[in-house]
Amino acid sequence: MEAVALKDRENQIHVKGQAPFNITCDQDSLAGAVSQRACVFCGSRVVLYPIADALHLVHGPIGCAVYTWDIRGALSSGPELHRLSFSTDLQEMDVIFGGEKKLRLALLELIKRHTPKAAFVYSTCIVGIIGDDMEAVCRQVESETGIPVIPVKSEGFMGNKRAGYQAACDAMFRLIGTGDTEKISRFSLNILGDFNLAGEIWMIRKYYERMGIEVVANITGDGRVDDIRRAHGAALNVVQCSGSTMGLADMIEEQYGVPSMRVSYFGIEDMSEALYDIARFFKQQYPDDPEADAIMEKTKALVQEEVSRLVPQLKQYRKALAGKKAAIYVGGSFKAFSLVKAFRLVDMQVVLVGSQTGTKEDYAELEAITDPGTIIVDDSNPLELTSFLKEKEVDIFVGGVKERPIAYKLGIGFCDHNHERKEALAGFEGMLNFAREVYSSVMSPVWRFVPRVQKSENRERKSEQQL
Ligand code: SF4
Repeated sequence: MEAVALKDRENQIHVKGQAPFNITCDQDSLAGAVSQRACVFCGSRVVLYPIADALHLVHGPIGCAVYTWDIRGALSSGPELHRLSFSTDLQEMDVIFGGEKKLRLALLELIKRHTPKAAFVYSTCIVGIIGDDMEAVCRQVESETGIPVIPVKSEGFMGNKRAGYQAACDAMFRLIGTGDTEKISRFSLNILGDFNLAGEIWMIRKYYERMGIEVVANITGDGRVDDIRRAHGAALNVVQCSGSTMGLADMIEEQYGVPSMRVSYFGIEDMSEALYDIARFFKQQYPDDPEADAIMEKTKALVQEEVSRLVPQLKQYRKALAGKKAAIYVGGSFKAFSLVKAFRLVDMQVVLVGSQTGTKEDYAELEAITDPGTIIVDDSNPLELTSFLKEKEVDIFVGGVKERPIAYKLGIGFCDHNHERKEALAGFEGMLNFAREVYSSVMSPVWRFVPRVQKSENRERKSEQQL
């Protein structure tokens, strides 16, 4: 490997086939490495943000709220309170004398003005430093207003983005178990870890409806507080983006006995498998129930119909994209599995795959499904990613908002697969959108005017560093 990497990070990079697999991951970022990861607060914010009828109040300086304002393209079919970013705007005097009074007054004013179903109050770095008792303030406001007021323990410095996911799960878990579950069907589920980017959860819900399954709660895309309160009444938790909400599924299973299943809605293969796995789950639960058989039959019909519509349309893209190279760098590694398969479906080769928060098991699975020579990287940074992209001479980079400028500066196509995207990439329809987007970016005539930065520039940089 010719690419540039910091010495202390070398064990977080693995090249398939070059050494036995033993990647280091799931640890704090190396100081000074300029990780692509966000802070704990941001991690909790991205998970809770799509709950559309809740008040989201950031207790901290205004910068934390601005940083995460409207952070996802998470759509709502009803209220849009989540899109407003409220902050207590802590100033020097609050840091000296404490921000509890300001927090209480802000909560009372906002709850009166917006009548939310619940309020989430996010802790930030400075609140962790000055030691405001958010729990006490929230309890007091809850008793004054009669709605759940939930502190999110998400001080930015307390770990990495993954710790923020857990803080969000802990906060939501306080709601679960407080709603009425009486009329919920035994063929029911909660959707966890889909954030309704570009309306994806609406497509997924439609599939479940066509299978004859009731969806109790969306957690959290197009989420509603009252639905989350009764989520413990569902028969199954179906978890996508498992890094962010698997903690919640585990807590629900422990306390209420609701089992969970990891799925991915990206790519034909994984989407079909997700639906079949769910149908099989209900068949196992109710082996002699004709309703469970009907679910299986409907699932087969659904998959057949969708796949037969999709495959002929994919042909044109496959022909043009065959042999092109792709690089993937995403937040949670589970999405990367599906992306590797999705690129294979259009005959493209994945040469780099990495994530911000993958576990050892995730990377082992990635190692198993990728081709020899593929670079697998944990918690990377712009310098490394740039040198990998040049070394591997990729045609398209899949990532999020922080990866986009890296690709464009190198004259490489880009596909946004993160919070901000406006194109639905999940579901069967999403696979077609994905292929179309990859095709449009890779084959765009704009690259004639933005020459690609060459691999040789890596070598020049290396020799400059050695001098
Ligand atoms: S919580 Fe801390 S690290 Fe996160 S945005 Fe605010 S100041 Fe920055």
